Amino acid sequence: MEHRDVVIVGAGPAGSTCAWKLRQSGLDVLVVDRASFPRDKTCAGWITPAVLEILQVAADHYGQGRVLEPIAGFRVGVIGGRSIEVPFDRPVSYGIRRCEFDQYLIERSEAEFRPGTAVTSLRRDGHHWTLNDQIEANVVVGAGGHFCPVAREINPRAGPEPAVVTQEAEVLLESGSERAAQPGVPEFYFTPDFKGYGWVFRKGLYVTVGLGRQDSNHLPGHVRTFLEFLESRGRGLGARRITWKGHAYLLYGSSRRNVVGEGIVLVGDAAGVAYPRSGEGILSAIESGRLAAETIAEARGDFGQGKLGTYPRRLRERFGQPTSARGISRVAPERLTAFIGRRLLGSQWFVRHVILERRFLHAA
Ligand SMILES: Cc1cc2nc3c(=O)[nH]c(=O)nc-3n(C[C@H](O)[C@H](O)[C@H](O)COP(=O)(O)OP(=O)(O)OC[C@H]3O[C@@H](n4cnc5c(N)ncnc54)[C@H](O)[C@@H]3O)c2cc1C
Repeated sequence: MEHRDVVIVGAGPAGSTCAWKLRQSGLDVLVVDRASFPRDKTCAGWITPAVLEILQVAADHYGQGRVLEPIAGFRVGVIGGRSIEVPFDRPVSYGIRRCEFDQYLIERSEAEFRPGTAVTSLRRDGHHWTLNDQIEANVVVGAGGHFCPVAREINPRAGPEPAVVTQEAEVLLESGSERAAQPGVPEFYFTPDFKGYGWVFRKGLYVTVGLGRQDSNHLPGHVRTFLEFLESRGRGLGARRITWKGHAYLLYGSSRRNVVGEGIVLVGDAAGVAYPRSGEGILSAIESGRLAAETIAEARGDFGQGKLGTYPRRLRERFGQPTSARGISRVAPERLTAFIGRRLLGSQWFVRHVILERRFLHAA
């Protein structure tokens, strides 16, 4: 039987940030992931500068040999309607590829890493956990994303959850289809009922296209309508077959999951902490990973719910009191929502200051 102070299940941005910080505290950490790395993750790969700041990653260093597309403008509109381009005078975000980004972070953490290892069983034995009948840990960090087995362990009766559902594809641009997406200017198009949005976004030689919604009704139909809309604008990806990947995740406020248990802490999508106003999940994954590491380090070996119980308070201090995400679509009938939404999206001021700066770029 092996033994570690902390075993982290999942090597996405939440798990690797937690590992990086715990290593700095001198703890004995093992990260396991069921995937072989580098691995793809269904994600558009848009990050705000705060991500690099918190991770203490210099953009020019990261950009050597990896995709780091500076973003200095956005195009925002409604599917089937008009759109507005809003330029900025500096890079306000970046585009990354998750296969590169996640590999970089787990290597940089300097934690012991075991890819290709799925956690299939978790058992409480006295004061520690036993994973897969092989590894003992004083603390287990659940960083396995939305379907994390550690999250299930402390939320056995979670039932159906109000997750954001998505379909996405990241494809290599073929010559002749460069018009599919303009470099440096991601495009967001809201669905007419404002319950979700589609995006098309160029990152180096790749383009990501996808759509996410807060209700799962007719998702493939919404994706088809979005692609037809792009096609009608001359922005199609050509005749190739696109392999779509689906995924779900919870927004902060809509998640009711317990995030701590006896010797357990959840981070990232396992905890349901993505930003409700934009769906950005990488930033909150690394922030929750950092807060979990601080909580574990400060517990100094006392890993009961008492000491680890300060973690939910830290999350609230950082992300605010959880309240269900509100939008005009929650309080107004669908046709009124569509009318108000279209009018607001026709205003440069509203798109720049409210949608982009306040909701997407955390200017407040
Ligand atoms: C289509 C889509 C687009 C998105 N676009 C963006 C975006 O542009 N910007 C943004 O900020 N956020 C975006 N998000 C959200 C973002 O991808 C997530 O919030 C983020 O990846 C969460 O990171 P994480 O570390 O919690 O989990 P993940 O990145 O999902 O990592 C979890 C890891 O756990 C591993 N794992 C799972 N189960 C087990 C097991 N049993 N044993 C061992 N390992 C296991 C998995 O293999 C995986 O590597 C998007 C999400 C989707 C679905």
